[in-house]
Amino acid sequence: MYGAIITVLFLAAVVFLAYRRLGLLSFCGTLTLLVALYCYLAPPAPTWKAVLWLLTALLWLLNVKPLRRALISAPFLASYRRMLPSMSQTEKEALDAGTVWWDGELFTGAPRWEKLLSASAPQLSDAEQAFLDGPCEVLCGMLDDWDITHRRADLPPEVWSFLTAKGFFAMIIPRQYGGLEFCAYAHSCVLAKIASRSTTCSSIVAVPNSLGPAELLNHYGTQQQKDYYLPRLACGDEIPCFALTGPRAGSDAASLPDTGVVCRGSWQGQEVLGLKLNFSKRYITLAPVATLIGLAFRMFDPDQLLGARTDLGITVALIPRGTPGITIGRRHFPLNIPFQNGPIEGVDVFVPLDSLIGGPAMAGQGWRMLVEQLSVGRCISLPSNATGSAKAAVWATGAYARVRRQFNLPIARFEGIEAVIARMTGLTYTMDAARSVTAGAIDGGEKPSVPSAMLKYHVTEMSRIVANDAMDVHGGKGICLGPNNYLGRGYQTVPIAITVEGANILTRNLIIFGQGAIRCHPFVLKEMEAARNPDRRAGIAQFDSALFGHMGFTISNSMRSLVMSLTFARLRGVPDHGPTRRYYQHIERFSASFAFAVDVAMLTLGGYLKKKESLSARLGDVLSAMYLASMVLKHYDNEGQPEADLPIVEWACRNLLYSAQEQLHGFLRNFPNRFLAGLMRVLIFPRGLTYFAPSDRLSRQVADLVTAPTPTRLRLGVHAYTTLNERSPLGLLQEVLLLAEGAELLEKRVRDEGVKAGRVTALDLPGRIAQAVAAGILTQAEGASLAEFDRKVMQIVRVDDFAPHELVPGA
Ligand SMILES: Cc1cc2nc3c(=O)[nH]c(=O)nc-3n(C[C@H](O)[C@H](O)[C@H](O)COP(=O)(O)OP(=O)(O)OC[C@H]3O[C@@H](n4cnc5c(N)ncnc54)[C@H](O)[C@@H]3O)c2cc1C
Repeated sequence: MYGAIITVLFLAAVVFLAYRRLGLLSFCGTLTLLVALYCYLAPPAPTWKAVLWLLTALLWLLNVKPLRRALISAPFLASYRRMLPSMSQTEKEALDAGTVWWDGELFTGAPRWEKLLSASAPQLSDAEQAFLDGPCEVLCGMLDDWDITHRRADLPPEVWSFLTAKGFFAMIIPRQYGGLEFCAYAHSCVLAKIASRSTTCSSIVAVPNSLGPAELLNHYGTQQQKDYYLPRLACGDEIPCFALTGPRAGSDAASLPDTGVVCRGSWQGQEVLGLKLNFSKRYITLAPVATLIGLAFRMFDPDQLLGARTDLGITVALIPRGTPGITIGRRHFPLNIPFQNGPIEGVDVFVPLDSLIGGPAMAGQGWRMLVEQLSVGRCISLPSNATGSAKAAVWATGAYARVRRQFNLPIARFEGIEAVIARMTGLTYTMDAARSVTAGAIDGGEKPSVPSAMLKYHVTEMSRIVANDAMDVHGGKGICLGPNNYLGRGYQTVPIAITVEGANILTRNLIIFGQGAIRCHPFVLKEMEAARNPDRRAGIAQFDSALFGHMGFTISNSMRSLVMSLTFARLRGVPDHGPTRRYYQHIERFSASFAFAVDVAMLTLGGYLKKKESLSARLGDVLSAMYLASMVLKHYDNEGQPEADLPIVEWACRNLLYSAQEQLHGFLRNFPNRFLAGLMRVLIFPRGLTYFAPSDRLSRQVADLVTAPTPTRLRLGVHAYTTLNERSPLGLLQEVLLLAEGAELLEKRVRDEGVKAGRVTALDLPGRIAQAVAAGILTQAEGASLAEFDRKVMQIVRVDDFAPHELVPGA
């Protein structure tokens, strides 16, 4: 017994050493002491003792660097070079783009929370707040989505003028050029608010403020280009579009076949050096009305007029609309969301070389420019639009479910509806947290390329669920389009957001983990750099230090995963955040399990992991779930930890961490090497799958928060257009919700004292109200107030009908 206890203590001490991430030398020293102590206190069998000392001696030998380099690192490097997936220049540029932020911490297995928690909450300046409360509010009031989507298939002229006059297209242009120069968070809030009213309008506003001429000029333009174009873009004299995609190059945009050949040609009466462009683009947002085209093409210099290189690579130029050879103006019709979008063709279009953004010096730099800017842009446009739409859907659905009655009850009281409303609310909170905290990080100087892919994918996928859920709760009311339908167009927008800026299947399967594994991992990039080092000796030394660091890291994460899984991470010291403390601990546990699983996968599958898209997608999902849960916790902190919101925070974290567990489980079930899968399972799930999805009780608490006019509901509606007026559906719904509680009490009285007692016999509410007033069950004033409530409810419940000719577009 005594021997067994000492053996267990010895093993626990070794696990603890690995858990604490001791350096190799300190580990060897401490291990030697432990082995000596163990052999002294409870001498093991001679063979076991010999094995222990042999292992300890071998570990000591690993400290002799020349020896381990020759015997381990150099041969390993040789096979690593063979395993290393080939990487194109465009892939390399994508990997180099942006910065590593909180995503990097989640790869370590021991995230340093102070890095996230010390970041200040995103703030709006007075001018930004005034813009949201002023022009943005006015704009939302001007938008009539049915008129826009059905009758005109465009914004009305006065809205176009308002957008350009108030600088909606100039949020990212510096003030010195006449722009608004908003921070990323303000930019995001403006888009969210417009999206809560009209996704057609928010898509139009998003484009000039996203990847395109203004942004590219801002970062890479020559001074002359900035001085000329930025003021014109800021005041709306130029409407920009950005043309990358074509019929042959969609997701694989870097394979574009559009060409620009360096040659001499005539420009404004003079012979100049320039480019002859031939291109075919499609799906280009704002193209039909654009005056300035940002064009991506592949640049060639066959006559070597610029230098020795003949294939310069992807390049970006600015082309005025009227340039001869361009065909533009036709429109696509994306799913009844008629923002301006269409094809552009160019045949032998000649432009001078100074049309290149940044001038000839930037020839061939196009792909780098695009991916660098996307690392910011993808955190803003689509996530903000999706969040604004989701906020509107939750706001509407919570109120609608409270005032829509079936089976004599508000439908919000049925468990099935509660579950759906809770899901919508939890996801919307997650989306809002992700977009605002990440925008805050951008304002703090980050260019978070991996989170930008996570946000693009997960926030738009969540918006798909929210839009579907809202439709389901509204039943036929959501389906029948017309001026009274406030959901249908948002629902139709979802697939567009899913497809643009990197279609979602590709983003999930190829980008999130593919980029994250290399960018964020503390050792992989170092190992890859070492493998590509042309100086062989230096490469081995570099590789050796990364490899041994990596091995220690993997062993440590395996032990951390085991210990935290066994203890439910209860012993893990994390920031003391009261009721949310456990979620910090669970994120740490998943971080260690994830980091361990990533290392085993990369070590055994190498470059093949890139082809095993479903495995990398699942690892990407685990990373994203941890990232989003961290955003939820930080957002809750930023909001001052309002206790009332806690059920939503818990729902969101539970939902995300449950998904992390399920995706890790799916990864293990599909891992090709079954022996390693079994070993990983022991270290990751020693107690099985112990994490549970949000409970029904929690879902009920969450649903209650948005089906009543609570402060939580108001907080969720911030940065959505919820103004109380009869033309704003969200305002009207809120107004009815405010009346609902009082009305429900009056209705109960009519039922209890009137219907059940046989004094009220009418079948519909207006009839019952009249009889209840006549019978003295309600006062005149109470009857009038209940009738007014009923009128408003019926106004909300009403759906549109049309004479057949009215459904002809434009009628
Ligand atoms: C309304 C709208 C507006 C747009 N605006 C612009 C614009 O302003 N400027 C511009 O340049 N472009 C724009 N686009 C183009 C948009 O970015 C592309 O549609 C998008 O890149 C996808 O290309 P694709 O439609 O050709 O689909 P495809 O590339 O044919 O992809 C089809 C499917 O295959 C999946 N897929 C592809 N490769 C992989 C892979 N390796 N692994 C897993 N799945 C994969 C994709 O995820 C997708 O689901 C717009 C598109 C639309 C619809």
